[in-house]
Amino acid sequence: MALAFDEFGRPFVIIKEQDQKVRLRGLDAQKANIASGMAVSRILRTSLGPKGMDKMLQSPDGDVTITNDGATILEQMDVDNQIAKLLVELSRSQDYEIGDGTTGVVVLAGALLEQAQKLLERGVHPIRVAEGYETASRIAVEHLEKIAQKFDFGVNNIEPLVQTCMTTLSSKIVNRCKRSLAEISVKAVLAVADLERKDVNLDLIKVEGKVGGKLEDTELIYGIVVDKEMSHPQMPKQIEDAKIAILTCPFEPPKPKTKHKVDIDTVEKFQTLRKQEQQYFDNMVQKCKGVGATLVICQWGFDDEANHLLMHRNLPAVRWVGGVELELIAIATGGRIVPRFEELTPEKLGKAGLVQEKAFGTTKDRMLYVEHCANSRAVTIFIRGGNKMMIEETKRSIHDALCVARNLIRNNSIVYGGGSSEISCSISVEAAADRYPGVEQYAIRAFADALDSVPMSLAENSGLQPIETLSAVKSQQIKENNPYCGIDCNDAGTNDMREQNVFETLIGKQQQILLATQDHLFRAFSSFFLFFVSNDS
Ligand code: ADP
Repeated sequence: MALAFDEFGRPFVIIKEQDQKVRLRGLDAQKANIASGMAVSRILRTSLGPKGMDKMLQSPDGDVTITNDGATILEQMDVDNQIAKLLVELSRSQDYEIGDGTTGVVVLAGALLEQAQKLLERGVHPIRVAEGYETASRIAVEHLEKIAQKFDFGVNNIEPLVQTCMTTLSSKIVNRCKRSLAEISVKAVLAVADLERKDVNLDLIKVEGKVGGKLEDTELIYGIVVDKEMSHPQMPKQIEDAKIAILTCPFEPPKPKTKHKVDIDTVEKFQTLRKQEQQYFDNMVQKCKGVGATLVICQWGFDDEANHLLMHRNLPAVRWVGGVELELIAIATGGRIVPRFEELTPEKLGKAGLVQEKAFGTTKDRMLYVEHCANSRAVTIFIRGGNKMMIEETKRSIHDALCVARNLIRNNSIVYGGGSSEISCSISVEAAADRYPGVEQYAIRAFADALDSVPMSLAENSGLQPIETLSAVKSQQIKENNPYCGIDCNDAGTNDMREQNVFETLIGKQQQILLATQDHLFRAFSSFFLFFVSNDS
């Protein structure tokens, strides 16, 4: 490959020996596709479970991310193969729909690809494999319903919810604070949940982070925290019973939209202009004060002149507040976002019992807390941590915990984790395979084997012998007719996941199986199988 420049200096690439590249067809193309999918899945395999490894990723501009979250790892991996991209999509779908289980879905998908490859080599047609997988996934999803349990919780009994969130957090870096973070997540979800309609709007939970302090200092605030400060250092730092004007109009005189010129050739003219500007600001400040506002939160900035005037007129203000935050403040305080000064009325003001600016440590970091709001259904989880990477990973982990709690409120069925439900499904799918006389049964058996990849990876990542551990647990499940036996990753002395309190939501697990299968069905097999590779690669 060589880089050349055209007559305009634009770079272009010359690919040498292009004729030597070949187009793969048929089985070779399928194998090449499968191999690239498996490569992605292999990377994630080591991240699965409570003892899974975190991955350190570096972006092209040098930013480092350390994470255990499958969706994030894939998002940042910059894959260019089509099938590998599908796996990224898969994990993204799981993240979008369920929020948790993003690693598991890719591990399962990778195992299904691996099994598919073996079948293809034995001459089974891709369509038969796809059909067998679909049948098997249906059996597994139905079986999950059989082994699922309902679990009860209420606003006064949040312990079960906390336990589930703890399972999710136990495989993340934030493991050491899992109890407190799980409690915070559950309280946040319950604060914004509509239990009657069984729905939770996660948009009402703001997750904010600030470098400094310890992870243990992470707190839940029944209100909104904004990474902003009062626009002038001499403005009051605490406002009780605040009436807030939430403005999206700039605090400055209107600017002409097209180009105009103002000629100022005398001192008088300049002073008149200045006076006019000041008058304009003054009117705006008066307008806010006139409707009863005691605090102005502005989406736009204002210059020093306006800032000074605001301070003098005793009207505290905050500037450059982002759109999303402005909306949350409006929801929390029951106020309306006002796009023009003329539209400002007393009813549109938001109400908060306390607005305060808090400083952190010796640094000059300040944040604005809007608390005791008229509508308490908007909350903030405020994360503290030693560095930015830690805070970002905590944000991702809390996102997973919030999603798990939300899923349980939507549907309170659970299945047990630690690979126990996968093993149980594998046994049931294997048994069902005998009922299918055609070639399909090979694919169904292969699906059962692929399900075993989850407990095997969990065992492997915990330093156990994967095959021995899996076969021991499987035979225990069959012998004791106990579908709750899984991998004892933390060496807790029992592999009954009910005793270890390791469970996941039923809908999450079902979604994992459905997603992992669907992608194979409709894309990897029945779509195109053409794939370019270079001879020398
Ligand atoms: P994902 O991104 O798929 O949620 P995780 O790395 O969070 O991946 O791992 C989740 C897997 O780890 C699930 O299969 C879950 O059942 C299992 N797991 C979590 N905690 C434990 C535990 N304490 N013991 C055994 N398995 C666990």
